[in-house]
Amino acid sequence: MKAERSAGIEMKDVLDELRQAFRSAGIESADLDARLIVAHILDISQARLVSEHDLKLGEAVIEKIRQAKMRRLDREPVSRILGIREFWSRAFEISDTTLDPRPDTESLIDAALEIISSEKLTDKEFTILDLGTGSGCILLTLLAECENATGVGIDIDPDALVTARKNSQRLGVGSRAEFVCGHWADPLDAQFDIVISNPPYIKSADIPNLMPEVKNFEPLMALDGGHDGLEAYREILSGLNKFLTTGWIIFEIGQGQLDDILGLLGDAGLCEHDDDCLILGDLNGMMRCVAAKARFTGNEKK
Ligand code: GLN
Repeated sequence: MKAERSAGIEMKDVLDELRQAFRSAGIESADLDARLIVAHILDISQARLVSEHDLKLGEAVIEKIRQAKMRRLDREPVSRILGIREFWSRAFEISDTTLDPRPDTESLIDAALEIISSEKLTDKEFTILDLGTGSGCILLTLLAECENATGVGIDIDPDALVTARKNSQRLGVGSRAEFVCGHWADPLDAQFDIVISNPPYIKSADIPNLMPEVKNFEPLMALDGGHDGLEAYREILSGLNKFLTTGWIIFEIGQGQLDDILGLLGDAGLCEHDDDCLILGDLNGMMRCVAAKARFTGNEKK
């Protein structure tokens, strides 16, 4: 929507009012949220919020901002209100059925790019499988970063795949991405060089204690990791050698799950040597990503 230069309230006053309302409600990211909402609704950059602070906003724009404010005061995350979230510096569309991509998940991209480079995968064509792809943020970021990669994203929710496909077009990597509906890798009969997943890992009993932004607005299926939070990892690892023989598997993990995940990887025949395991923290220094190299021969029992 275009900003109107006719009579109306100045943008800086609208922005101030929004910021104050969010601060009074105890929203930690009040200033950023106010800026993101106004910039998005006016379809201008955040820099222009400053340079054009005296722009007069018309009725229609102000009403849109008011509606966004009510939703945010109801604890809906800004990314859900706007339908867009930035991940690895690219904009991803999100929907009711996709997890809102998190900065923490960018540590998986760091790990994958490190592995892709150390294994010299960029010298040839290589394949990526993203299990529980949601918005497609992980797979599509890697495809955008690596021009000779192709990949498959799987999700159990067909509606999530609609969003992931839109994102693949948006990023211009649609011809190298395929999206399939199913339970983890069940629908597949192929091997991949890199398997990556940010599976649901919250213990079922902890979900009621999550922030309202998460428990009231994220799809439950994208969060709920069963009684101990590890159910998805067990399911994925149980069928591992069907889709991974000699490549890497990269997992996002939850707080305090490192030892359990290393145990599950060990049970699956992975992480037998230190060189075969990579552990990365997120920006808060929390262990967030575990990667393991498979060295199966392909003759193991399936
Ligand atoms: N892969 C998606 C993401 O990381 C969705 C993950 C999920 O739904 N648990 O955002």
